[in-house]
Amino acid sequence: MGGGHGFFAGPSSFQANAQAGLPYAEVPEELRSRIADVLRNEPEHPQPVVQFSHCDWDRRPFGLRTFLAPHAGGLIVAFLLVLAEVGLLHVGPLLTQIGIDRGVLAGDRSVLFAVALAYLGAVGLSTAASWFRTRFTGRLGERLVYELRVRVFSHFQRQSLDFFTVEKSGVLMTRMTSDIEALTVLMQEGLVNFFVQGMTLVVITGYLVFLDPTLALVCLLAVVPINIVLTMWFRRVSLIGYLRVRDRIADVLANLSESLAGIRVITAFNRRDHEMARHQRIIDAHLDANLYTGRTQALFGPGTESIGILTQAIVLLVGGRMALRGEVSLGELTAFLLFLTSFFAPVQTLVQLYNQYQQGSAAVVKLRELLAREPSVPEHSDAIELPPIRGAICLEGVTFGYDPDHLVLRDVDLELAPGEVLAVVGPTGAGKSTIAKLITRFYDPTFGNVTIDGHDLRDVTIDSLRGQLGVVPQEPFLFNGTIRDNVAFARPDAAEDEVLEACRAVGLQGLMDRMPDGMDTQIHERGTSLSAGERQLVALARAFLARPRVLVLDEATSSLDLLSESVIEQALDSLLEGQTAILIAHRLATAMRADRIAVVDDGRIVEHGTHDELVALGGQYADMVDTWLRHADHLPTDR
Ligand code: ADP
Repeated sequence: MGGGHGFFAGPSSFQANAQAGLPYAEVPEELRSRIADVLRNEPEHPQPVVQFSHCDWDRRPFGLRTFLAPHAGGLIVAFLLVLAEVGLLHVGPLLTQIGIDRGVLAGDRSVLFAVALAYLGAVGLSTAASWFRTRFTGRLGERLVYELRVRVFSHFQRQSLDFFTVEKSGVLMTRMTSDIEALTVLMQEGLVNFFVQGMTLVVITGYLVFLDPTLALVCLLAVVPINIVLTMWFRRVSLIGYLRVRDRIADVLANLSESLAGIRVITAFNRRDHEMARHQRIIDAHLDANLYTGRTQALFGPGTESIGILTQAIVLLVGGRMALRGEVSLGELTAFLLFLTSFFAPVQTLVQLYNQYQQGSAAVVKLRELLAREPSVPEHSDAIELPPIRGAICLEGVTFGYDPDHLVLRDVDLELAPGEVLAVVGPTGAGKSTIAKLITRFYDPTFGNVTIDGHDLRDVTIDSLRGQLGVVPQEPFLFNGTIRDNVAFARPDAAEDEVLEACRAVGLQGLMDRMPDGMDTQIHERGTSLSAGERQLVALARAFLARPRVLVLDEATSSLDLLSESVIEQALDSLLEGQTAILIAHRLATAMRADRIAVVDDGRIVEHGTHDELVALGGQYADMVDTWLRHADHLPTDR
């Protein structure tokens, strides 16, 4: 297949370029072999195999325990490695004690030599265990984060449209980026480090008790109770703080994404300073939330640290007196004090890790809320595949409100025979687009049913339904990529001439002739580099190529120049040929193309019939035509 398919270009496209001789252009001869080396080692990323279901997914509440459970084996391996690493690392002070008492003080060189050798061996083994463990847990952590990203993204894909209306895109972006990143740190190092430090603490406590139970008891009594109280306090206040931080980051990103999307309006209305003030207020709140957590950390961290220093002073005092009385040897006291230093190092690390854990917990809470959301338009587990449809659409007694207290459609009955084109007209806000959204099952009716060929939309799988519908939305959305990518969006496997034919059929040829690279011209994000009319043509070409059985077209309301309008009208003609279609018409010229017309007013169908019948009826439609004729000095000549 020709051309750069921007949507699917993975890192392997780099290798394709290499084969085409591209990377060597203007590269000095002597560097080429090095480039070849790099390219050889580039990982290949095959097209991922996606397992996505609208109805079956892991519905257990999201939490660290359920999330980590499938990786229990890996975690046990990591735990054993940690055990070996910590045990080996901390025989040092013990060997020092033996070295001093039985080597130096007893004047035995061979013991000293043996001890030094053992020390070296222990350090070597511990380093090896540490290397292996870091590699292993690093991979495991990355794997977990990857799974989480896929899970959150699939959950977004599964949600119904109301979810995206209610949730700000910036907030969703925060869940996918900042929240997951807060967990990344925890999963990559945090959890295992928690083990490492916890085990270190247990091992050292063991050593301390082994060295001198009395001194060990003194230490534990000085450290444990105060630390428990401090930790319980920190647990409570920091979770509140970190949850607030997560919310404030979401606000920052939501505001950022909104002002980026609306930058044209902001500029046009000269509201840049106002936007800056608004954003500043939001980052002020973010700063406040961070300062609060900073204050709690400032109490917790140094608080536990000073307890450690105090304990060392106590041990020096108590241990020193015991040494003077000959109850402990000098070697034992030295080893004890050395151990004590390494006792407080993990305590400090645990304190920092606990802080990290609390940040992660706040992210878990947010992700749990998100992952618990059920789509409002669910697919039932016993939903059937919708067989190839003929296109008989029926709305029976449909009542619907986006908010159940405010009905937008009331008791709507509508029927459409296969191959028929029905136009829906009416004042703005009457509920026309809402009818289109119910037929495409973006929403389910509150009462009544929508059926296609007698199948209630709620009983069929979402993919089999949408696969047979073509939707041209009011505001066509174009993706970053080439014109070709955008036209072939619904059928990326379409052959070159099919894409060309679709472009020609809707009259995109003119645009492509004007564009520097024809179909391979890059379109900016959201199609901002194209005019409104051109965007609509691309959307029509997309629908033409998809060849749906039923077409739902929500006409763009943006006014176009007369030339673009006539191009689009011709495009519509070729698109509608022999097609079952619902046109949400905002212009009467479009409505008149339909076989039948339904007039919607205030959520009800008030008139229904052909153009001629409705004009003869002399009702609302006839009034609209009348007004239009008086205002418009151009009438399409094809009717
Ligand atoms: P139109 O006839 O202009 O196509 P719509 O069907 O788009 O009208 O809208 C009908 C009513 O529903 C309007 O009052 C509109 O404000 C409201 N509405 C449309 N979309 C939503 C939504 N996503 N959430 C809440 N209300 C909506």
